[in-house]
Amino acid sequence: MHIALTILLSGGLALSPGLNKPNLITPLDTESHAQSTQVILLGTGTPYPDPAASGPATAVVVNGRVFLFDVGAGVMRRLKAANLPINGPEALFITHLHSDHTLGYADLILTSWVMRRRAPFPVFGPRGLQRMTKYLLAAYSEDIRIRTKGLEHEVAGGYRVNVHEIRAGVVYEKDGVRVTAIAVRHGAWKDAFAYRIDTPDRSIVISGDTRPSEALAKAARGVDILIHEVYSASRLAPEDRPGGKDWPRYCREYHTSDVELGGLAARIQPKVLILDHIIRMGASDEELLAGLRAGGYLGRAVIGKDLERY
Ligand SMILES: [Zn+2]
Ligand SMILES: [Zn+2]
Repeated sequence: MHIALTILLSGGLALSPGLNKPNLITPLDTESHAQSTQVILLGTGTPYPDPAASGPATAVVVNGRVFLFDVGAGVMRRLKAANLPINGPEALFITHLHSDHTLGYADLILTSWVMRRRAPFPVFGPRGLQRMTKYLLAAYSEDIRIRTKGLEHEVAGGYRVNVHEIRAGVVYEKDGVRVTAIAVRHGAWKDAFAYRIDTPDRSIVISGDTRPSEALAKAARGVDILIHEVYSASRLAPEDRPGGKDWPRYCREYHTSDVELGGLAARIQPKVLILDHIIRMGASDEELLAGLRAGGYLGRAVIGKDLERY
């Protein structure tokens, strides 16, 4: 622990050279790490309800300030497991409105309120986010009424959030933290965004869901941490279900293969690449890492797991 802490404070990534596993996976010590930015993988899953991988959600913690990226199923329980505040983040950023990335949105809004949130937090995301928010609150209107007027005495209006439907560009800038939205292509979705986060000590790019993106490659060049979605190219095959013959085409139009990601990462040259939202189709970690190498990436890469910290 002492050695890992020394590595972190010396400004380097908390990773051992040559290993593809992080060596610092411990609860956030806000006292001693107060000045450093940490990335916490709250949920690395896909729509598949894997008990070990919650729905997509990533926290970037800067000096105790929590920024959330996507809110998949299980997000509140993962926030608690990571010892992060449960009464709301400083801001939430949503990559796109696919259900796996937003199923925890009502949970975040309402549970943070019940956990004594009083003020709105801002939520940034694509067109349609305003409508989604409005209808979620409408769906829970009776819950909100009873919790406010009944014996629970929750803070009136404390559940509110301020929604911002965004375009590409800088969407948040405050006290040394800048968040830039990058427009990416995710199949038929009109709006999908990756995000770049710049803090006083680190730069991070989170891909969200996207097919190989030139805009992302450009915006991510030389970044400290690249968190990117991926599927296994070698395992891609039609599925035995109605419509399953289109599965390979779906993956190619909506997502990025390990080989394609290897090609992108070879140009981006992140200090570390974290594979996230992995559509494995049975592929092992070794197969995915081999796919990256086949694409040309020989840098540091890790398979992201829930509650890991970087
Ligand atoms: Zn997804
Ligand atoms: Zn998606």
